[in-house]
Amino acid sequence: MIAIVLSRKDSGESDQIISFFTEEFGKVEALAKGVKKIVGKNSSFLETACLVDAEIIKGKAVNRVASVCLIDLFKNIRTDFTKLALCGYAVKSIEILTEQNERDKNIFNLLKSFLEFLDFEKSVYTSCLQAAFILKFFSMLGYEPELKRCVVCGIGLDAEKKNGFYASGGGVICVECAQEKINVGENFVFCEKKDVESLASILKTDWKLINGSELSKTAMECVKNFIGYRSERRIGSFEKFAELAKIS
Ligand SMILES: [Zn+2]
Repeated sequence: MIAIVLSRKDSGESDQIISFFTEEFGKVEALAKGVKKIVGKNSSFLETACLVDAEIIKGKAVNRVASVCLIDLFKNIRTDFTKLALCGYAVKSIEILTEQNERDKNIFNLLKSFLEFLDFEKSVYTSCLQAAFILKFFSMLGYEPELKRCVVCGIGLDAEKKNGFYASGGGVICVECAQEKINVGENFVFCEKKDVESLASILKTDWKLINGSELSKTAMECVKNFIGYRSERRIGSFEKFAELAKIS
């Protein structure tokens, strides 16, 4: 099956558990026997973020990797720290926030297109791509941020007034409802309509255009709050994402 390697962890002396995101079945974990002993081609094909055609034999308790054929190593990602960091962030977000055997071809295609873009593009810039990847990914998980209407009262946003981004409510909030949230001590980010529009635009745009765009400080703050809330902080701080680049 066509799959992207998400992670690998040791199991015993010579085996590893490989986590794949497959086109057909979503996330699948499988045991690769003897993979640490053999410095063979199968082993290097199981590096994180490789696109592979893997033969996985489903088992009652454990699945087993029977063979692996490399389709794309995305070699330009591996020699560029920024690309590696973005790739690590994307792969680990998917690893952490998806369940096994939940088929989602959109998520597979999102990751594949992101890796292809990182591999192909000469220079990449982090923050906008990182924000766009995660917003697109969350939308596929069913958490698309509401960017048109107040998540509390439902009215359309007033361009003349300052609005808010209310992460725990899942999107934008009007000034009146924001005032009520202030009174009860809840958190949100004050933002302009253009900040909200820039978020709506990166959700729809392709990687190349996103790479050439910039998000305002306020828009970035909205994204960070949203990710923190939606992932229950499981994917770590946005600033420290480079740590996620330590992929094996
Ligand atoms: Zn409202």
